[in-house]
Amino acid sequence: MWQKIYFDLDNTLFSYEYAFQHAIKDTYLELLEQWEAANLSVPIVPLDDWFEVFKYFSDVYWEDYQNKAISQRDYRRKRYMETMRHFQLPCSPEEADQFHNRAYDRALDYVQPYPGLYPLLQCLVDHQFEVGVITNGHAHIQRRKCRKLGLEHYIPDHHIYISEEIGLVKPDPAFFRLVHGPCCPPEAALFIGDAWEHDVVGALEAGWQAVYLNTQNRPRTTSHRPLAEFQHLYQFYQFIQDFLCSTSHTNNRSGKEGNEA
Ligand SMILES: [Mg+2]
Repeated sequence: MWQKIYFDLDNTLFSYEYAFQHAIKDTYLELLEQWEAANLSVPIVPLDDWFEVFKYFSDVYWEDYQNKAISQRDYRRKRYMETMRHFQLPCSPEEADQFHNRAYDRALDYVQPYPGLYPLLQCLVDHQFEVGVITNGHAHIQRRKCRKLGLEHYIPDHHIYISEEIGLVKPDPAFFRLVHGPCCPPEAALFIGDAWEHDVVGALEAGWQAVYLNTQNRPRTTSHRPLAEFQHLYQFYQFIQDFLCSTSHTNNRSGKEGNEA
């Protein structure tokens, strides 16, 4: 039986892709308004056309960024500058930075939970699992996402582990080992995440069990074997409910086992 059940944050508890795409589109429309207000004479490029090309260049340079051939800042600059040049729109590296800063800030407005998140967390809390989050990223941004999701109603602040604060980054197994601590055997800890190498491989290498929440339909890149794979968070909720029924888990103080649906 698990003692600890931890989750990744982005694209595991909510769709970061959805938030990011809406924020990028809003920021482009804001840019058009700025150009118009400044009476700048630029080609008129409809939002959908612009975004399609932006997405294209995002994909083109993604592998270089993943392979660490280019930095995050250069990745963002390249996709922005190439898109702007494609449409003969004005651009500069500094504007690319400003554009992304505005967009990433705005993305937080679009953070909304995946279906089933709250019943799932309530079920886990009711059954007295230790529930938490292990996420890579900047502390102030990740914490804003957690607040936006209302995670404080289910997860205490000290069970939210953020790479910037801890000084360890997934998939380093040491990050997971630090979370399970000396009192919990690693196999009594379960991690759920959408990134194969960061989440699944990292957790398994630390001795945890892992569930691959493949929300972006990406192939596995190693032969590691997770406990299960799902595409949607609510499927994990069903899995947990079935598991609790099959094991007649008795840790439930509320006596409402099986009624969560
Ligand atoms: Mg993720």
